[in-house]
Amino acid sequence: MTDLGSRIREIELKISKAARRSGRTAEAVALMAVTKTRSPVEIQDAWDAGIRLFGENRVQEAALKIENWPRECVSEWRLIGHLQRNKARKALALFSRIDSLDRLDLAQDLERILAEKGGEIEALVEVNTSGEISKHGVSPEGLEKLMEDILRTCPRVKLRGLMTVGPLEGGQASVAEAFCLLRGLRERMSGRLGLQMPDLSMGMSDDFEMAIEQGSTCVRLGRALFGPRE
Ligand SMILES: *Cc1c(COP(=O)(O)O)cnc(C)c1O
Repeated sequence: MTDLGSRIREIELKISKAARRSGRTAEAVALMAVTKTRSPVEIQDAWDAGIRLFGENRVQEAALKIENWPRECVSEWRLIGHLQRNKARKALALFSRIDSLDRLDLAQDLERILAEKGGEIEALVEVNTSGEISKHGVSPEGLEKLMEDILRTCPRVKLRGLMTVGPLEGGQASVAEAFCLLRGLRERMSGRLGLQMPDLSMGMSDDFEMAIEQGSTCVRLGRALFGPRE
Protein backbone atom coordinates (compact mmCIF):
# COMPACT_ATOMS: atom_id res chain seq x y z
CA MET A 1 0.00 0.00 0.00
CA THR A 2 1.20 3.56 -0.65
CA ASP A 3 1.94 5.92 2.24
CA LEU A 4 -1.22 7.81 1.41
CA GLY A 5 -3.18 4.56 1.33
CA SER A 6 -1.97 3.55 4.78
CA ARG A 7 -2.63 7.03 6.19
CA ILE A 8 -6.16 6.83 4.86
CA ARG A 9 -6.71 3.43 6.51
CA GLU A 10 -5.44 4.84 9.83
CA ILE A 11 -7.71 7.84 9.57
CA GLU A 12 -10.71 5.68 8.70
CA LEU A 13 -10.04 3.70 11.85
CA LYS A 14 -9.92 6.89 13.94
CA ILE A 15 -13.14 8.08 12.31
CA SER A 16 -14.87 4.84 13.07
CA LYS A 17 -13.73 4.85 16.72
CA ALA A 18 -14.81 8.47 17.22
CA ALA A 19 -18.15 7.70 15.55
CA ARG A 20 -18.69 4.85 17.99
CA ARG A 21 -17.92 7.14 20.92
CA SER A 22 -20.73 9.36 19.66
CA GLY A 23 -23.12 6.41 19.35
CA ARG A 24 -22.88 6.20 15.57
CA THR A 25 -21.11 4.11 12.96
CA ALA A 26 -18.38 5.11 10.52
CA GLU A 27 -20.94 5.33 7.69
CA ALA A 28 -22.47 8.36 9.42
CA VAL A 29 -19.29 10.37 8.82
CA ALA A 30 -18.06 11.26 5.33
CA LEU A 31 -14.35 11.71 4.73
CA MET A 32 -13.64 14.65 2.43
CA ALA A 33 -10.12 15.06 1.05
CA VAL A 34 -9.23 18.76 0.88
CA THR A 35 -7.12 19.14 -2.23
CA LYS A 36 -6.07 22.80 -2.23
CA THR A 37 -2.40 23.08 -3.35
CA ARG A 38 -2.30 19.34 -4.12
CA SER A 39 -1.26 18.09 -7.54
CA PRO A 40 -3.43 15.98 -9.84
CA VAL A 41 -1.12 13.03 -9.12
CA GLU A 42 -1.68 13.30 -5.38
CA ILE A 43 -5.42 13.56 -5.91
CA GLN A 44 -5.39 10.54 -8.20
CA ASP A 45 -3.50 8.59 -5.50
CA ALA A 46 -6.23 9.50 -3.03
CA TRP A 47 -8.91 8.32 -5.47
CA ASP A 48 -7.00 5.07 -6.03
CA ALA A 49 -6.94 4.59 -2.26
CA GLY A 50 -10.72 4.87 -2.11
CA ILE A 51 -11.47 8.58 -1.58
CA ARG A 52 -14.51 9.74 -3.56
CA LEU A 53 -15.33 13.11 -2.00
CA PHE A 54 -13.09 16.13 -2.61
CA GLY A 55 -13.16 19.69 -1.34
CA GLU A 56 -11.54 22.70 -2.99
CA ASN A 57 -11.25 26.26 -1.69
CA ARG A 58 -10.83 28.28 -4.85
CA VAL A 59 -12.84 28.17 -8.03
CA GLN A 60 -9.93 28.83 -10.36
CA GLU A 61 -7.63 26.26 -8.83
CA ALA A 62 -10.46 23.72 -8.78
CA ALA A 63 -11.38 24.35 -12.42
CA LEU A 64 -8.02 23.12 -13.69
CA LYS A 65 -8.27 19.96 -11.64
CA ILE A 66 -11.93 19.13 -12.17
CA GLU A 67 -12.04 19.88 -15.88
CA ASN A 68 -9.09 17.55 -16.48
CA TRP A 69 -10.24 14.86 -14.09
CA PRO A 70 -10.78 11.45 -15.76
CA ARG A 71 -14.50 10.87 -16.13
CA GLU A 72 -14.27 7.18 -15.31
CA CYS A 73 -12.96 8.06 -11.82
CA VAL A 74 -16.37 8.91 -10.45
CA SER A 75 -16.14 11.41 -7.63
CA GLU A 76 -17.86 14.32 -6.01
CA TRP A 77 -16.40 17.82 -5.71
CA ARG A 78 -17.61 20.45 -3.28
CA LEU A 79 -16.61 24.03 -2.72
CA ILE A 80 -15.47 24.73 0.85
CA GLY A 81 -13.90 28.19 0.43
CA HIS A 82 -15.13 31.76 0.17
CA LEU A 83 -17.00 32.30 -3.09
CA GLN A 84 -16.93 35.64 -4.87
CA ARG A 85 -20.12 36.62 -6.62
CA ASN A 86 -18.43 36.94 -10.00
CA LYS A 87 -17.41 33.26 -9.77
CA ALA A 88 -20.87 31.94 -8.87
CA ARG A 89 -21.62 30.73 -12.40
CA LYS A 90 -18.33 28.90 -12.68
CA ALA A 91 -18.82 27.36 -9.23
CA LEU A 92 -22.21 25.99 -10.29
CA ALA A 93 -20.62 24.39 -13.34
CA LEU A 94 -17.89 22.71 -11.29
CA PHE A 95 -19.29 21.70 -7.93
CA SER A 96 -22.10 19.43 -6.82
CA ARG A 97 -22.46 21.39 -3.62
CA ILE A 98 -21.46 24.70 -2.06
CA ASP A 99 -20.45 23.95 1.53
CA SER A 100 -19.47 27.55 2.29
CA LEU A 101 -22.55 29.65 1.56
CA ASP A 102 -22.41 32.62 3.90
CA ARG A 103 -24.51 35.50 2.59
CA LEU A 104 -27.76 36.36 0.91
CA ASP A 105 -26.49 38.24 -2.15
CA LEU A 106 -24.47 35.18 -3.14
CA ALA A 107 -27.43 32.82 -2.62
CA GLN A 108 -29.54 35.13 -4.78
CA ASP A 109 -26.91 35.15 -7.54
CA LEU A 110 -26.90 31.35 -7.49
CA GLU A 111 -30.70 31.36 -7.63
CA ARG A 112 -30.78 33.73 -10.58
CA ILE A 113 -28.26 31.69 -12.58
CA LEU A 114 -30.11 28.45 -11.79
CA ALA A 115 -33.41 30.00 -12.84
CA GLU A 116 -31.82 30.77 -16.18
CA LYS A 117 -30.12 27.45 -16.85
CA GLY A 118 -32.33 25.12 -14.80
CA GLY A 119 -31.51 22.81 -11.90
CA GLU A 120 -30.73 23.33 -8.28
CA ILE A 121 -27.74 23.30 -5.95
CA GLU A 122 -27.27 21.84 -2.50
CA ALA A 123 -25.57 24.04 0.03
CA LEU A 124 -24.38 24.25 3.59
CA VAL A 125 -24.45 27.57 5.42
CA GLU A 126 -21.05 28.45 6.85
CA VAL A 127 -21.18 29.79 10.40
CA ASN A 128 -18.40 31.67 12.14
CA THR A 129 -18.64 29.84 15.45
CA SER A 130 -15.47 31.31 16.99
CA GLY A 131 -15.96 35.01 16.30
CA GLU A 132 -12.40 35.15 14.92
CA ILE A 133 -12.37 37.98 12.38
CA SER A 134 -10.16 36.02 9.99
CA LYS A 135 -13.00 33.51 9.55
CA HIS A 136 -15.73 33.60 6.95
CA GLY A 137 -19.28 32.65 7.77
CA VAL A 138 -22.43 34.23 9.13
CA SER A 139 -22.51 34.98 12.85
CA PRO A 140 -24.58 32.62 15.02
CA GLU A 141 -26.92 35.56 15.70
CA GLY A 142 -27.38 36.23 11.98
CA LEU A 143 -27.98 32.61 10.99
CA GLU A 144 -31.74 32.40 11.39
CA LYS A 145 -32.42 35.54 9.38
CA LEU A 146 -30.05 34.42 6.62
CA MET A 147 -31.63 30.99 6.40
CA GLU A 148 -35.14 32.42 6.40
CA ASP A 149 -34.24 34.82 3.61
CA ILE A 150 -32.65 32.06 1.55
CA LEU A 151 -35.66 29.76 2.07
CA ARG A 152 -38.02 32.54 1.08
CA THR A 153 -36.17 33.90 -1.97
CA CYS A 154 -33.97 31.07 -3.26
CA PRO A 155 -36.03 27.90 -3.83
CA ARG A 156 -33.32 26.39 -6.04
CA VAL A 157 -30.73 26.61 -3.29
CA LYS A 158 -31.32 23.54 -1.13
CA LEU A 159 -30.01 23.98 2.40
CA ARG A 160 -28.69 20.69 3.74
CA GLY A 161 -26.97 21.78 6.91
CA LEU A 162 -24.19 23.84 8.43
CA MET A 163 -20.44 24.10 8.13
CA THR A 164 -17.79 25.67 10.34
CA VAL A 165 -14.05 26.02 10.73
CA GLY A 166 -12.94 25.58 14.35
CA PRO A 167 -10.98 28.34 16.11
CA LEU A 168 -7.19 28.48 15.84
CA GLU A 169 -6.77 30.10 19.23
CA GLY A 170 -7.94 29.00 22.64
CA GLY A 171 -7.07 25.31 22.65
CA GLN A 172 -9.18 22.18 22.78
CA ALA A 173 -11.93 23.60 24.97
CA SER A 174 -12.82 26.40 22.59
CA VAL A 175 -12.73 24.04 19.61
CA ALA A 176 -15.17 21.70 21.36
CA GLU A 177 -17.33 24.70 22.24
CA ALA A 178 -17.47 25.84 18.61
CA PHE A 179 -18.52 22.39 17.41
CA CYS A 180 -21.09 22.06 20.14
CA LEU A 181 -22.47 25.48 19.18
CA LEU A 182 -22.85 24.41 15.53
CA ARG A 183 -24.72 21.27 16.51
CA GLY A 184 -27.02 23.29 18.76
CA LEU A 185 -27.66 25.78 15.97
CA ARG A 186 -28.62 23.00 13.60
CA GLU A 187 -31.14 21.66 16.09
CA ARG A 188 -32.57 25.10 16.75
CA MET A 189 -32.78 26.01 13.07
CA SER A 190 -34.36 22.77 11.94
CA GLY A 191 -36.97 23.19 14.66
CA ARG A 192 -37.72 26.85 13.96
CA LEU A 193 -37.67 26.61 10.19
CA GLY A 194 -39.18 23.12 9.90
CA LEU A 195 -36.30 22.03 7.75
CA GLN A 196 -34.39 18.76 7.52
CA MET A 197 -30.70 19.59 7.95
CA PRO A 198 -28.84 16.30 7.96
CA ASP A 199 -25.32 17.63 7.49
CA LEU A 200 -22.81 19.14 9.89
CA SER A 201 -19.48 19.69 8.17
CA MET A 202 -16.90 20.25 10.89
CA GLY A 203 -13.49 18.91 11.80
CA MET A 204 -10.12 19.29 10.06
CA SER A 205 -6.75 17.57 10.48
CA ASP A 206 -6.13 18.74 14.05
CA ASP A 207 -9.62 18.34 15.46
CA PHE A 208 -11.63 15.84 13.43
CA GLU A 209 -12.03 13.24 16.17
CA MET A 210 -13.43 15.84 18.55
CA ALA A 211 -15.73 17.11 15.80
CA ILE A 212 -17.11 13.61 15.26
CA GLU A 213 -17.72 13.23 18.98
CA GLN A 214 -19.72 16.47 18.72
CA GLY A 215 -21.83 15.13 15.86
CA SER A 216 -19.92 15.94 12.66
CA THR A 217 -21.22 14.16 9.54
CA CYS A 218 -18.34 15.27 7.32
CA VAL A 219 -14.69 15.84 8.21
CA ARG A 220 -12.53 17.86 5.82
CA LEU A 221 -8.94 16.64 5.85
CA GLY A 222 -5.95 18.06 4.04
CA ARG A 223 -2.69 17.72 6.00
CA ALA A 224 -3.68 14.53 7.81
CA LEU A 225 -3.98 12.82 4.42
CA PHE A 226 -1.42 14.52 2.21
CA GLY A 227 1.11 15.91 4.71
CA PRO A 228 2.04 19.57 5.33
CA ARG A 229 1.17 22.19 2.72
CA GLU A 230 3.94 24.24 1.11
C1 LIG B 1 -7.74 23.87 4.20
C2 LIG B 1 -9.08 23.56 4.72
C3 LIG B 1 -9.37 22.33 5.34
C4 LIG B 1 -8.33 21.26 5.57
O1 LIG B 1 -7.38 21.69 6.50
P1 LIG B 1 -6.27 20.70 7.09
O2 LIG B 1 -5.85 21.41 8.32
O3 LIG B 1 -5.22 20.61 6.05
O4 LIG B 1 -6.92 19.39 7.36
C5 LIG B 1 -10.68 22.11 5.75
N1 LIG B 1 -11.64 23.03 5.59
C6 LIG B 1 -11.40 24.21 5.01
C7 LIG B 1 -12.52 25.18 4.86
C8 LIG B 1 -10.12 24.52 4.57
O5 LIG B 1 -9.89 25.72 4.03
